Amino acid sequence: MATAILLSALAMSVIVGVRYLLASGGFALATRVRKPGLYRGLGRQIGREIGWSLASALIYGIPAGVVAWGWQARGWTRIYSDMRDFPLWYWPLSVLLYLLAHDAWFYWTHRWMHRPRPFRIAHAVHHASRPPTAWAAMSFHPWEALTGAVVIPALVFLIPVHVAALGMVLTIMTVMGVSNHMGWEMFPHWMVRGPLGRWLITASHHQRHHEHYACNYGLYFRFWDRLCGTDRGLGSFRETA
Ligand SMILES: [Zn+2]
Ligand SMILES: [Zn+2]
Repeated sequence: MATAILLSALAMSVIVGVRYLLASGGFALATRVRKPGLYRGLGRQIGREIGWSLASALIYGIPAGVVAWGWQARGWTRIYSDMRDFPLWYWPLSVLLYLLAHDAWFYWTHRWMHRPRPFRIAHAVHHASRPPTAWAAMSFHPWEALTGAVVIPALVFLIPVHVAALGMVLTIMTVMGVSNHMGWEMFPHWMVRGPLGRWLITASHHQRHHEHYACNYGLYFRFWDRLCGTDRGLGSFRETA
C-alpha cells in the first residue's frame, strides 16, 4: 500500500512538472513571438524560476497523489465520472464553486504572506522575480507551495465535481497562473478594461501586485480585493526594445 501511494505521488509530481514545463514553455514561446526581447537579460532569473517551480511541482504532487490513490483504491472524494449523477447545470456551477473557493483561500493566505515574517520565510521567493516571466507561474518557496498544493485535494472531499469539470478547473488554474506572470496582456482591451475586467483578474491586475506588493492579492476574481479595499486597479507593462 505504501509503495502504491508513493508511486501515485511520484507520478503526480511528474505530471505537474511536465504540465508546468509545457504551459510555461508554450507561453514563453508566445512571448518570444508577440513581444520579442521582453525577457532579454532575465536568463539567470528564469533559471531560478524554473528551479523553484520544479521543486513546487514535486510538492504539489504529494497531496494530489495521495488523494488520487484514495479515489481509485478506496473510493475517497466526491469526484464523479457518470454525468447522470448530477444535473447538467451543476457541471459549470461546480467549476465556478472551485474557482471561488480557491480564490478565497488564495486571497487570504496570500495577504497573510505579505506580513513581514511570513513574507521573508515563504513569499519573498515569488517576488524575487522582477519583473516575473511566464516561467514564474510556480516559482514559490516550498512553504508557499504547500499552502497552494492542499487546496484542490481538500476541495474534492467537500464539493462534488465531475472528473472533466475538475480537468477544466486545473486547466484554468494553469493557464491563468502562467499568463498572469508573463509580462503582457493576452486578453482583448475591451475585456480587461470593460465591465468583465472589473471582476476578473488577468495579467494587468497581477502585474500591479508585483509592482506595488501591498495590493491586488486575488487569484481569479477582484471580489475580495474590492471588498477589502486592497484593489489598486491595473498595472502597466515594460516595453519591449
Ligand atoms: Zn505572482
Ligand atoms: Zn505577493
